[in-house]
Amino acid sequence: MKRIVLLLTIPILLTMTHCAPKEKGIEGSPITQTQVEQTQNELLKEFGEGQKFRIERGVSQVANLWRQSDGSFEEFKTFCEERFVADEAELETLFNKLSFGFEVLSGNFLKISKDLMRPLHLDMGPVTPIDMMFGGFSASAHLSEDLYTSKIAFVTALNFPFYSLNEKTELGPSWTRQQWAYARMGDRFTSRVPAELQQNYSRISTDADAYIDDYNIYMANLRNEHGEQLFPEGMKLITHWGLRDELKSQYANTEGGLERQQMIYQVMQRIIDQSIPQKVISNDEYIWNPISNEVAKDDKTVDASAEPNTRYKHLLNLFKAIEDMDAFYPNMPSFIQRRFESTYEIPVDDVEKLFIDFVSSKQVREAGKLISERLGRPLQPFDIWYDGFKSRSSIPAEVLDNAVAKRFSSAEAYQNEIPNILTSLGWSKDKAKFFQSKIAVEGSRGAGHAWGAAMREDIALLRTRIGANGMDYKGFNIAMHEFGHTVEQTITLHDVDYYTLTGVPNTAFTEALAFIFQKRDLDVLGIKDNNPEKVHLQALDNLWQCYEIMGVSLVDINLWRWLYENPHATPAQLKEATISIAKDIWNKYYADVFGSTDEPILAVYSHMISNPLYLSAYPMGLLIDFQLEQHIAGKHFANEIQRIFEQGSIIPQLWMKGAVGSPLSIEPTLNAAEKAISVVKK
Ligand SMILES: [Zn+2]
Repeated sequence: MKRIVLLLTIPILLTMTHCAPKEKGIEGSPITQTQVEQTQNELLKEFGEGQKFRIERGVSQVANLWRQSDGSFEEFKTFCEERFVADEAELETLFNKLSFGFEVLSGNFLKISKDLMRPLHLDMGPVTPIDMMFGGFSASAHLSEDLYTSKIAFVTALNFPFYSLNEKTELGPSWTRQQWAYARMGDRFTSRVPAELQQNYSRISTDADAYIDDYNIYMANLRNEHGEQLFPEGMKLITHWGLRDELKSQYANTEGGLERQQMIYQVMQRIIDQSIPQKVISNDEYIWNPISNEVAKDDKTVDASAEPNTRYKHLLNLFKAIEDMDAFYPNMPSFIQRRFESTYEIPVDDVEKLFIDFVSSKQVREAGKLISERLGRPLQPFDIWYDGFKSRSSIPAEVLDNAVAKRFSSAEAYQNEIPNILTSLGWSKDKAKFFQSKIAVEGSRGAGHAWGAAMREDIALLRTRIGANGMDYKGFNIAMHEFGHTVEQTITLHDVDYYTLTGVPNTAFTEALAFIFQKRDLDVLGIKDNNPEKVHLQALDNLWQCYEIMGVSLVDINLWRWLYENPHATPAQLKEATISIAKDIWNKYYADVFGSTDEPILAVYSHMISNPLYLSAYPMGLLIDFQLEQHIAGKHFANEIQRIFEQGSIIPQLWMKGAVGSPLSIEPTLNAAEKAISVVKK
């Protein structure tokens, strides 16, 4: 399900500002405010007041990015005077040439990476150490710095002003497509973080990933109060995904499912509060009772000290590495701001308000009652993961497997089927053939992925797992998800009018299309599933998933606010704060639904530790998906998808208005759930 996004070395996530350096100069820049003004005045004299805005912003931008090694103040001033383009036609020529150059660089560097990783991603025999070395090789590692050294970055920053999210929101609706394309060019060079700080962050981030990736619980070693083993031999679950998925699967187990769920939740609480014995983490030598917290070996109780707040140490290290880089973003000095205003392009306050309105809604309260009735017991905290709203297909599994195996026996067969898949969804034959020529299907080693191109000469890769006997239905369902990604990647590269506007506003938007394709897998197979409750169950499932993940996101956001307020916190203090924030969010928006207070469960997510402020992307994706589905219903599918995604990477709220007529909203999800609650029986 993962879409590989190879970020260009140009730090597009990170943005700067139009604000000029202070007298002392901004971090790293030798150009003072007086010198900036002096340069701006020279240019104003030469090019006139009509260019005032572009001159002021462009010169400030270049000053912010300029370093001692780029030259003296005189060289800075001369550069600005010589490279500023005032004439509109000349500016358009410059824009086109920059677009061409960036497409050549980004496209080819991405192609190099994709090619070098082929032995890792495709089954080309055993992976050898040299395959790993080429796979980790980054040909574009110095691209960003080279673009400064060659002054290409400065020409771009001087002539294409950066607009803040506020400005894009205010001015964007009346911009022409060309003005949008120019604004996106202005987003390219907005900060210049020293390489050693970026490397430091990447090292600490790798450490945090490794900590989470290697955090497993041996479930067969767990014991309840009666010394009983509840989980099968060999079961090893990673925090928190593996634990959560096992907890979900126990809803189907009417014999002892609840006790197993309670035990898993007990384990989760010990991970959150770090009372978990260090000895039982990724170690199958010890027997552990997570309730009493006793550890034993060879039937003898042994001393077991708790994990020493390592979980929170990693988060703290990430915070410090990020904080070190803050000074290089003078107008967005907080990571919270950068993540939301730059990566997601929706202000954190707007996102938070959407989430709070949602988790406070009467619909989740009604759904909570319905779930309690369906379960025949009061809700438990871990019922935030209730998954009983999944609709069972009315078609036998082997009918589905057969339908898939016949048509999708190999990667070649899938490749040949692309036009048929797309025409069955409404694309014309010619257009479907065009997609076929731009997407290559390959059998992957892993579960599969979709990897788009960054230049029009390259193609998108659809990697999917195909067994010796062809695909089964489950594999086809996943392949449809990845196929949706490649269709998005192809539309937004080839059918968007400007290269700087290619792509989607943020990853939540490509995920939305991938899920929309995945849900149409039976249409493609020409099979009708007659489950009248299906649409309502989906609405309730969507509601409950949003309710869960929005709460987790609110904890994540508040945790980062706390970190900025307490930059010198110890791991122990951070742990206390995390638990107290999680309980606070629980008490405000969950306690009345679940009938219990002070539950820390919302703090269990691993993303919170290794992937700072990433969680909010999930619920945004769910809302987008739902709004798009509602809009498409009853319309020509292919035409609408083309029209919507041809908007390219304008800001999310404008994209949504263009797509469905309204900004990102919780109403469609809540309204559909309300209808579903009255229909779905217990
Ligand atoms: Zn995906």
